[in-house]
Amino acid sequence: MADNAAGLWETPAAEALRFRPGMQIADLDSRSTPGFVSSKIDGKRALHERGTVLSSLQEKLYANGRSGDNRSVLLVLQGMDTAGKGGMVRHVIGHVDPQGVDHVAFGVPTDEEKRHHYLWRVTKALPRGGQLGVFDRSHYEDVLVVRVHGFVPETVWRGRYDEINQFEKELLGTGTTLVKVAMFVSLDEQKSRLQKRLERPDKYWKYNPGDVTERKLWPAYQDAYQAMLDKTSTEDAPWYVVPCDRKWYSRIAVTELLIDAFERLRLEWPEPDFDVDTEKRRLAES
Ligand code: ATP
Repeated sequence: MADNAAGLWETPAAEALRFRPGMQIADLDSRSTPGFVSSKIDGKRALHERGTVLSSLQEKLYANGRSGDNRSVLLVLQGMDTAGKGGMVRHVIGHVDPQGVDHVAFGVPTDEEKRHHYLWRVTKALPRGGQLGVFDRSHYEDVLVVRVHGFVPETVWRGRYDEINQFEKELLGTGTTLVKVAMFVSLDEQKSRLQKRLERPDKYWKYNPGDVTERKLWPAYQDAYQAMLDKTSTEDAPWYVVPCDRKWYSRIAVTELLIDAFERLRLEWPEPDFDVDTEKRRLAES
């Protein structure tokens, strides 16, 4: 981690947060700050500084995309209600030029979407070459909410883990780097975030009575998240398990995960398709 916000991390985020076989989310402390060894103030300051680094890397990807490079980066955000997916988009992706971002939020499938295979709407939403794609929820809902509520028979959702692995393998083959982030809040923290939404008129719009119903299904969701991690964290498309009770931490952590993904692309600025000296002369004479 070259110029990694000077000494704030003792272990790079990509290493500290990577899901390892056998890891149990029941043991996860969602107030913890894996790998990070400095203060909240430093974490918040670093968010801005590292956001600038992220922005410049993304611009390079965008520039290459304009020159025909088909590579892209796709951030997949999965998490229980109130985990902070929206804030992640605002505070992390907000550093990046919106032109270069393909952001899609996946809600309950529309009637048209229901008539298609569950990967249909996802395939349509994949980032184009040069873009940073952001999925706020994703195809993983089809092994999470769908599994918990039994919207399809077990034989169907069980087959989806392999199908998703195959889908993502093909995606990697077409030049998309996946950054899969599983965001975890504790049941208590979720309650307090929902309470805040009920206390402020400017937050009512975020409150969904259905979220309280889903809280009763917390253990089933935990099982579904565990299975998702166990079955779909692969060598080339690993899950990163991010504790989210401290928003400042989850935001800087995801910023670092994205920077790591971009750096692994080893992007260079594209070569001009014109002669620079000739153009300087022409411009001077114009
Ligand atoms: P969020 O909770 O993400 O902030 P929201 O409350 O505004 O968003 P929507 O974005 O409209 O709600 O939809 C999110 C809801 O859609 C979640 O409850 C999620 O479980 C559900 N959902 C997403 N994908 C599916 C799916 N494939 N099948 C059933 N429900 C789904």
